[in-house]
Amino acid sequence: MGNSKIYLSPPHMGNNELRNIQQAFAANWIAPAGPDITAFEQNIEQYLGNSIYAAALNSGSAALHLALILLNVRRGDEVICQSFTFAASANPIMYLGATPIFVDSEPYSWNICPNSLEDAIKSRLAMGKAPKAIIAVDLYGMPYNANAVNAIALRYGIPVIEDSAEALGSTYNGQRCGTLGDIGILSFNGNKIITTSAGGALLVKNRQYKERALHLATQAKDNYPYYHHTDIGYNYRMSNICAGIGRGQMEVLESHINARREVNTFYREIFDGINGITFQSEPDKKYFSNYWLTAITVDAAVAGTDIHELMKALADDNIESRYLWKPLHTQPVYKEAPYYGNAVCEGLFESGLCVPSGSGLTDDERARIAEAIKKGIGKN
Ligand SMILES: *Cc1c(COP(=O)(O)O)cnc(C)c1O
Repeated sequence: MGNSKIYLSPPHMGNNELRNIQQAFAANWIAPAGPDITAFEQNIEQYLGNSIYAAALNSGSAALHLALILLNVRRGDEVICQSFTFAASANPIMYLGATPIFVDSEPYSWNICPNSLEDAIKSRLAMGKAPKAIIAVDLYGMPYNANAVNAIALRYGIPVIEDSAEALGSTYNGQRCGTLGDIGILSFNGNKIITTSAGGALLVKNRQYKERALHLATQAKDNYPYYHHTDIGYNYRMSNICAGIGRGQMEVLESHINARREVNTFYREIFDGINGITFQSEPDKKYFSNYWLTAITVDAAVAGTDIHELMKALADDNIESRYLWKPLHTQPVYKEAPYYGNAVCEGLFESGLCVPSGSGLTDDERARIAEAIKKGIGKN
């Protein structure tokens, strides 16, 4: 018998999620409506502060789609998006028939590079195209460089959508991720720092936006005694059952953040003294990452190993690891999209690895991981 699998980022339930589901069953709130949804939204709004309105939806992707609709993105428009991210960050641009304009990362935060962003904006403006929005991502929990990026966005009058799917609990200048842009989104997919099994939230700064988003998310039924529609709607609302899980998960969010950060420290100790290993790290005191995933880059010329050897050594003991996001401008499906950058994200993709970062990692699992990494070093 082999060892049981250690996953990259498995769900981690607290004590009250199941109780909330049982109460929802008892009251027959088995629908995308019910008291847990409102309560979960209030939990999120309280946590984020900053006069945020949260709309609980059935995925982070749905939240991004609605964010673009709220900003009036239409067919033929252009939307700037960080290239170094999961495809879900950009796919909603395509749902609307708009064009993504991809931008490189900066080497510090690994998120959207302010210089390349400004290059992209100037270049598109020179072609007569004013970008309708900027999607900045908080990758692996690391906040984007909000001071620089927001200043550029403001200068050109372009709203920022913060894709904070991976960064609930992270902060920048003491302000919570998800609230750094004009609109934010969260994901509660099974692999995220807290999960509702599947789910997401749209974060907006006025009540009208939230009401409009919920209208669109519930099939855009107008206020008539019969079904009457003036907009195309979507079926994007969160289920009450999922919201019950979310309420339980909000109770353990703080301990999950502490655990993920502690896992990050564990890896820094394992790799201590090994040259050529670089961690994704908080660039300065403004940044506080939830370290949703611990991510490293390996300089194969000096480390005595490379990411493929490390991945193999981990897989040999049934331990999951994952390459960093393949930049979207290098994806076949996005090969026509313009790109502005200096090959920073390409370099990260070629040299980077995410290692198991679950908040429930046991001492036994840590010992196995440490042992596998030891075997993976010096194998180049
Ligand atoms: C998970 C994720 C999404 C999508 O969220 P879903 O809830 O899975 O639809 C979007 N962007 C990033 C960066 C993500 O990690």
